[in-house]
Amino acid sequence: MATHTTRMLIIGSGPAGLSAAIYGARAGMKPIVVQGLQPGGQLTITTDVENYPGFRDVIQGPWLMQEMEAQAVHVGTRMLWDTIVSVDLDGPSRGEPFRAIGDGGDIYEGETLVIATGAQAKWLGVPGEMELSGKGVSACATCDGFFYRGKKVVVIGGGNTAVEEALYLTNHSNDVTLVHRRDSLRAEKILQDRLFAHPNVKVVWNKRVERFVGDHATGELRGVAVIDTVSGEESEIGTDGAFVAIGHAPATALFAGKLDTDESGYLVVEPGTPKTRIPGVFACGDVMDHTYRQAVTAAGTGCMAALDAERYLQEKEFAEAQKEAAE
Ligand code: FAD
Ligand code: NAP
Repeated sequence: MATHTTRMLIIGSGPAGLSAAIYGARAGMKPIVVQGLQPGGQLTITTDVENYPGFRDVIQGPWLMQEMEAQAVHVGTRMLWDTIVSVDLDGPSRGEPFRAIGDGGDIYEGETLVIATGAQAKWLGVPGEMELSGKGVSACATCDGFFYRGKKVVVIGGGNTAVEEALYLTNHSNDVTLVHRRDSLRAEKILQDRLFAHPNVKVVWNKRVERFVGDHATGELRGVAVIDTVSGEESEIGTDGAFVAIGHAPATALFAGKLDTDESGYLVVEPGTPKTRIPGVFACGDVMDHTYRQAVTAAGTGCMAALDAERYLQEKEFAEAQKEAAE
């Protein structure tokens, strides 16, 4: 078991963590990024990215994240493949650094801590979902869509993710049904226009998924049992694959009881900054952003976290030097 020390410890390797790393490294902070279970973050499970500034042509999410990582490493970031299982944020009050423990027991010590743990897919929490996960139920069309070539699929949700997943699945299936619990989508208009215009996509409105139904003989998904939210009528939509695309929850379990969270579980920061209530601990990206949740905003707040971390250390060291001079 090793101990890794740095002036800036970053937990998470999505756009927020890697942008913080690029700025931190360029400021001489020799950052360490602990990558977690999803190196590169959420954009690694999508395909086309059309709204990240700087690219006129469509780029691929995994490619963008590889480039960000390469840039971070190029300017002096150490990327470490580990997952943090606990954190101690009280170190500085004892004259020690912030400390995090990896799942193999490695210790990470940072004079500042940048939290960029992002968000993870939400599940519906209805019967059959976990039992049929991997047997027809999935939360990632770009990962599993290939298995449904020529088969029937449904996507559940009404936001950007659901619409993108449905459109992506048309690459494999010519029978895609989007099931939404209301009568209008939350997704951006441009995506809605594409969805409604697609000949192989059907939208089923006002239907709440009650359970996933397995086939007794095969043990695989057979259909999705739904209830009409207006009439109360129950029915089953037969399908080979069901993709749950109802959004993501912030990954904040590590900080429970240590940092403030809002009613949806997002880390609370001082408005307009990435500062948490503990000096020296900064939060950036989807883990603190209830509203925008975009790669570019995650990158922007990652930059802010690194700049504020650098200022925090400068001020701390200046104050310590003043104190020493006075003694
Ligand atoms: P994330 O990308 O979620 O990264 C979190 C990181 O934290 C991961 O590396 C993970 O491994 C790490 N981590 C978590 N817990 C731990 C731990 N305990 N220890 C160590 N590491 C940990 N946005 C756009 O702007 N354009 C798009 O086209 C677009 N398409 C999208 C498509 C899909 C399917 C999805 C799901 C999202 C899409 N988004 C898009 C949103 C965008 O991906 C997110 O806003 C962005 O990735 C958030 O970046 P982040 O760095 O905050 O967190
Ligand atoms: P989202 O915007 O929060 O949408 C979640 C959708 O799932 C909503 O339509 C919601 O229904 C539905 N839903 C939630 N819980 C449900 C439940 N229990 N049962 C049935 N339906 C449920 O999440 P998202 O689509 O993942 O997007 C997250 C963020 O990432 C957004 O900011 C989005 O803009 C961004 N993103 C951007 C892109 C892009 O720019 N191309 C792509 C993907 C994601 P209601 O509408 O009824 O609430």
